[in-house]
Amino acid sequence: MSKCELCDSPGGELIWQDAFCRVVRVEDVDYPGFCRVILNRHVREMTDLDNRAREQLMSVVFAVEEAVRETLQPEKINLASLGNMTPHLHWHVIPRYRQDRTFPNPIWGASRRETVAAALDAATARRLKSAIQHKLG
Ligand SMILES: [Zn+2]
Repeated sequence: MSKCELCDSPGGELIWQDAFCRVVRVEDVDYPGFCRVILNRHVREMTDLDNRAREQLMSVVFAVEEAVRETLQPEKINLASLGNMTPHLHWHVIPRYRQDRTFPNPIWGASRRETVAAALDAATARRLKSAIQHKLG
């Protein structure tokens, strides 16, 4: 039985959670503000959920997207569900900027430029956290 990283650990800084899913912020200096919405159960695909659960999960994804947009005003939001390495349902909510390391490619693509890595400053991280918490109640 292989271990699952998202069953065994939060997967980032815990920002919000209920019985169904959680929101974490990933500390990634190339993509400040990168968040994940992670189902609490070990489920492989969106289509393994019933319609109600699919909608419930996406409503959290969209709330996080809104909070990231309002707080960080990125050029673009990337939503992604891959899970090839960790087949436990999770959505990436990634703020993108023209000057980020891989723009306009996906963040998992080849690097396009050298950048000065910069973690989200503490004040902005707090604003993002409270914006997400406010939207999710
Ligand atoms: Zn898992």
